[in-house]
Amino acid sequence: MDNVVEIKNVFKSYQLGSTEVYAIRGLSLNIRRGEFTALIGASGSGKTTLLNLVGSLDNADKGEILIENVSLKNLNENQKSFLRNEKIGFIFQSFNLVPVLNVFENVEVPLTIRKGLKDEERKARVLTALKDVGLEEFLHHRPDQLSGGQRQRVAIARALVTEPVLILADEPTANLDSKTAHHIIDLMLELNRKRNTTFFFCTHDEKLMSRVQRIIKIKDGALVD
Ligand code: ADP
Ligand code: MG
Repeated sequence: MDNVVEIKNVFKSYQLGSTEVYAIRGLSLNIRRGEFTALIGASGSGKTTLLNLVGSLDNADKGEILIENVSLKNLNENQKSFLRNEKIGFIFQSFNLVPVLNVFENVEVPLTIRKGLKDEERKARVLTALKDVGLEEFLHHRPDQLSGGQRQRVAIARALVTEPVLILADEPTANLDSKTAHHIIDLMLELNRKRNTTFFFCTHDEKLMSRVQRIIKIKDGALVD
């Protein structure tokens, strides 16, 4: 079984003053290569916590997560940031673009720390990613000159440019109107098919789910059938 992600009985809680908030409670889940999986649940159900754990941005209290058969438990901070840059692309609700950089430069950022990548190849990869999201005519625009949907396309191109095995998207459409939101989902589905990139994306919007092959529901930090 070619699993890109294995989540094995993971627990995560936060200390909030004197109380402990249980965000993820004994959750297990596998994601296979090329799958497009939507994680859906109400606000506060644990979606962001789970995506952050899978993205190695945070550590589980108990249990284990493996990315392409490598346990995150066994990695130090340097190894984790290497893994993130090599294997994982992130897309966020609020786009997280660098305001002073233009579209091309924003997408280029994750490649600038790659050693041994020639200038021409880096540029070619940025252009390919921007073509894939339909923004080849906006290379010199700054984020504040773009619509919300265009900004999210830039963020998607930035996530794609390293050719990751896995893209994690945390409510990527929450700040968009519903028509634009559907276009962004369509684009992610198209990229999933075209590049066979594995997508794990979360949302609280049930309306977006009609075209997604695999839907997983989360409630109070655990999966619901
Ligand atoms: P979702 O993304 O589905 O809205 P979260 O993963 O953000 O859910 O939150 C899950 C639970 O963990 C919620 O009860 C939330 O209040 C709590 N939580 C999340 N982050 C923190 C934090 N940094 N400190 C304390 N509690 C947190
Ligand atoms: Mg969230």
